[in-house]
Amino acid sequence: MRQQESGCKGCREEYKVTEEQIQRVLSSPMFSEERCVPNDQYEARLNACSSCPKLQSGTTCTLCGCIVQITAKLIEKRCPYPGQDRWAAATAAV
Ligand code: SF4
Repeated sequence: MRQQESGCKGCREEYKVTEEQIQRVLSSPMFSEERCVPNDQYEARLNACSSCPKLQSGTTCTLCGCIVQITAKLIEKRCPYPGQDRWAAATAAV
């Protein structure tokens, strides 16, 4: 009998999101220029994520479950960090 694997299925190596997949999503019409933050703000948001204890595997926010490289592109999205929008703090200096 096969031993049941522990942990979340989405955390397994075969389910990791690749850069190619992220780029494919970002090239969709949903990410038109008017819906996206400027590149400097996008980079500031991703920098905030890279030092955040809630980031897992370099791609996933464990608070909201989003892929940060995708969500951080959209103007209307906010960082869900409790008591502190880390994106707002990071982009205030941009
Ligand atoms: S809590 Fe905010 S800064 Fe941290 S990984 Fe999630 S979106 Fe990024």
